[in-house]
This record gives sequence, structure tokens and C-alpha cells, in this order.
Amino acid sequence: MDTVNSNDNNMVIFEEGGKFLMPTYSRLPVVFEKAEMQYLWDVNGKKYTDYIAGYGCLNIGHSNPFVIDAICKQAGKIIQPSNVYYNLPQVELAKKLAGITGADKKVFFANSGTEAIEAAVKLARKYSKENFSEKRYKIISFYKSFHGRTMGALSATAQEEKQKIFEPLVKGFEYAKLNDIDSVKVKIDKQTCAILVEPIQGEGGVNAAQKGFMKDLKKLCTENKILLILDEVQTGFGRTGTMFAYQGLEIEPDILVLAKSIGGGMPLGAIIAGDDISSAFVPGSHGSTFGGNAVSCAAGCAVVDYLVENRLPERAKELGTYFMKGLEKIKSKYPAVIDVRGKGLMVGMEFSKQAAPEMVSKALEDGLVINKVSPGILRFLPPLIISERDIDRLLKWLDKNTAKIS
Ligand SMILES: *Cc1c(COP(=O)(O)O)cnc(C)c1O
Repeated sequence: MDTVNSNDNNMVIFEEGGKFLMPTYSRLPVVFEKAEMQYLWDVNGKKYTDYIAGYGCLNIGHSNPFVIDAICKQAGKIIQPSNVYYNLPQVELAKKLAGITGADKKVFFANSGTEAIEAAVKLARKYSKENFSEKRYKIISFYKSFHGRTMGALSATAQEEKQKIFEPLVKGFEYAKLNDIDSVKVKIDKQTCAILVEPIQGEGGVNAAQKGFMKDLKKLCTENKILLILDEVQTGFGRTGTMFAYQGLEIEPDILVLAKSIGGGMPLGAIIAGDDISSAFVPGSHGSTFGGNAVSCAAGCAVVDYLVENRLPERAKELGTYFMKGLEKIKSKYPAVIDVRGKGLMVGMEFSKQAAPEMVSKALEDGLVINKVSPGILRFLPPLIISERDIDRLLKWLDKNTAKIS
């Protein structure tokens, strides 16, 4: 980065970024250079507190020393020998994931959430076609869902504004309404192979699936021999107060989809399924050159150990309750706040006005990194290691700045 050496460090990078990067993101005007747990520093040395954790990728914090150590040690040994051979961290992480999701489970590793969704879709289709009927391939997902941006995952992402320009989509996807079991029932027929759902829709606005709805969904799946695929890419790894959100919903998924926080910041995704379903995948069915590479998996092992040893799911639950109490107080003070919702440290705050973009910018100026999912909704996904004092600081800031919404 020796081209960037003026007083105006940020400006030079915005300029070069604008020139050399495809404009796929509406980026905020900051260049982060360094991070440590819940704190970030930009190229000018200004410090920020992070309440979005890389969109939920950093449940155990930025550059957690245990993750750094695991990455460095592994990188010094072997990075990726190819998946036609075994590598130690991949097997170790699969064993750990099976350990925290129940007995007789098998794992496939991808590099990201969207790729993990693709793997889940392929596994569900192959299993259903081979075990029931060649015509059984339809997958039902939900409006306002987000499952990723590759063509298969995008076809499952029931948001017209994201899909339209990329048509034709992949065939065999149908959509229902979250928390409306009848809207699911009318879509089910002999061709339905799976239902794909986020326990709490993240990108869609922090919309929780109700426990009763999830139980009904599970029952519907069992009765019709349909696979239940849970997308826990964002809700997983302690975020909602249990290691996985389904553990708080008293249901079991047939295929569990994971990514984001699994790698402690390294690219990694995974699907987990029981032995019977997993056995539909045979050599040649699916694969990935970098999926489950030794370095990402070593980071993943450190993530799981750290979460368990530090009881971070429980911490998310406690801090989430504390945070929600503070937000409820703000809501009762200002009519501009129409809803606060969420579970654990996955929290949404909805305004009657399109106040979110301005709040995100103002927060950044004040050294708080917050996020909006739409012009009217703020979303908070702080690292689970965040302190009560950091939460207090955010609440105070929100109180002050909500008061300014006219
Ligand atoms: C982020 C996200 C994805 C996509 O993950 P990528 O790693 O960005 O491909 C899929 N599902 C959910 C619920 C997500 O939040």
C-alpha cells in the first residue's frame, strides 16, 4: 500500500477503489486497516466499536488471538493439499461440528454461505430423486429470505428486486409466506423435495419464524417425507442465544447450512446432515477445490472451541436480553420507533421514517459501526464477546439520535 501515503489516507483509497473495483457495493466512506475483537481502526488511526461484526461473520471477534494462532500455525504447515487427500483440520472440524449438532452426522465443506446452500439443494434433490421419485425436485423457500447470490441460491432468495434482472432463474423453486403454514401447505405436492428456511430472516429485516410455525413446518415435512433445510448461515454459532437457533426451537433440521462465523473471518461454509441423507452424496456428486481447506478449517476449530469454552451462546442470550430492555425503553420514549425485535444478539430496530441510512452515517462519524437492512430498519449483530459497556454506549447513542428524528 505504498501508493497510499498522504495525509488524506481515506480519499486516495476511495479514488483508486472507485477506479479499479466493480461497483457491486454501496460502500461507506471508511477504510479499516486494523481490528481487535470488537474494535476497528481506520487508516487515519480513528477507533470504532463494531456492532455488525462483518455482517455476523465475527461472533468471536475480529482477529481473535486464538484464530490468528490457528491460522498461522496451519499456514506454516500446509494450506490445502486438495480434497482427494485428507487434511487434519478438516476432519477435526467435521468431528467438532458433529459433536455440537448431535450423533451420526456428516459434513461437507464449501467456501461460503451461497455455496453451502448450493450443496444443500443438490443433496436434497439427489436424495429425494433416488429415494422417492425422479420428479421430486421442488424446493419451497420464503418471501424476504436471503440465501445467497449464485444462481441456485438466488433462485431460493424470494426477493424479486434481487432476482429479476438475472432471469431465467433455476427451475423448481417456489415461495411461501413465513409464519403462514397454510401458504406452505398449498405449495406442497408430490414433487416437493425440501423446505428451506432461515430461523430468523437476517437480510430480510430480522423477521423471526415463530416456534409454533417451525414445529408445524417440521411436522409437515415429516408427514410428506420432505427434507427440512435450515439456513443458519447468520443465526448459527451462538448468535441467537443457543449454539444454533434450531436448538431453541425444539426442532431438528434434516440439513443444516452454516457459514459466516464458522471461519472466524476466513472463508468457509458447511452443510451437516444425518448419515442416511449424507450417503446420497458419492464420489463425483459434488466437490470444491478450496472447500474445507486446512487453514479455514483450523480457524473453524478455534472458533468452535472458543465459543464453547467461553460460553458465548449463553452470553449472547444474557446480553441480548439486556440490550433489548434498553431498546424497549427507547421505543417507549419515541414514537419514531415502531418495533424492536430479535433474539440473543440478532436485533432489529424499525422506524416509522426512513431514518436508517442517515443514522448509519452519523454513527460511523461518531465511531460506532452499525448497519441497516432497509431504509427503515437498523440491524445489530455485535460480536458475542462485546461488553455491557459497549452496549450501554450504543444505547446512549441510539437514544440521543432517535430523539433527533423528526
Ligand atoms: C450471508 C448469508 C448467506 C450467503 O452467504 P455468503 O457467504 O455471502 O455467500 C446465505 N444465507 C444467509 C441466511 C445469510 O445471512
